[in-house]
Amino acid sequence: MNTQQKLAALGLILVCITVNCLNGQDFKKDKYFLQRKTMVEQQIKERGIHNPRVLGALMDVQRHKFVPDEYKSFSYDDRPLPIGHNQTISQPYIVAYMTEILNPEPTKKVLEIGTGSGYQAAILSLLYKEVYTIEIIGALGEQSKKVFAEEGYSNIKVKIGDGYQGWKEYAPFDAIIVTCAPTNIPQSLVQQLSEGGKMIIPVGKPFNQVLYLLEKRGGKIRKTATLSVQFVPMVRE
Ligand code: SAH
Repeated sequence: MNTQQKLAALGLILVCITVNCLNGQDFKKDKYFLQRKTMVEQQIKERGIHNPRVLGALMDVQRHKFVPDEYKSFSYDDRPLPIGHNQTISQPYIVAYMTEILNPEPTKKVLEIGTGSGYQAAILSLLYKEVYTIEIIGALGEQSKKVFAEEGYSNIKVKIGDGYQGWKEYAPFDAIIVTCAPTNIPQSLVQQLSEGGKMIIPVGKPFNQVLYLLEKRGGKIRKTATLSVQFVPMVRE
């Protein structure tokens, strides 16, 4: 190689390094990184979710890991997706909305009813100290456990069973999030909410419900209607 060729080679190396540095941030993680970034910007931030920890969690959790193979390429679309057994993974915006309204803190613990794909629980696991989640369909609970182990979400405990009873052993909870819809608010869940705690729960007929925020103050419950939503029904064992 003559000097000119050496300089040209060096130049090429420098260009490659620069391009890599500029794009490295965006491309290093996984092939859906840019789609996820767009999801957070356009579906979540633009609709008014501002909590930086919540936005960070939506950026960090790889939603496609919780979506069945045949729907993976739609993982960052603005909609729920089928996860088998007639159930769905919720729309990303609804996950973000329900999470933000609970005002998650890293010292607190949360109970989720309706593990489903495990996506919501994974988001919560980055925002709370401990996550407890209950799923009534055994196969979904087991599949979620597997993804949590593979992806290193180690502060989530999964129980297969009926969420109507809550999880007495670990109660009270600072927050409760219900991702399937009962026709009435289960009193056992209200009882398992800490003083000062918040619960977000869809209530109503199948696929036509109101999402309520419940806050426990001085032993009393304040109930506020928020969005109208469409969740799968909460079934009984
Ligand atoms: N949070 C989930 C969304 C799940 S859809 C996610 O991020 O993917 C609602 C889930 O609630 C379904 O998996 C359904 O099986 C479950 N479910 C319905 N009734 C239940 C009950 N009584 N106890 C626990 N889970 C229930």
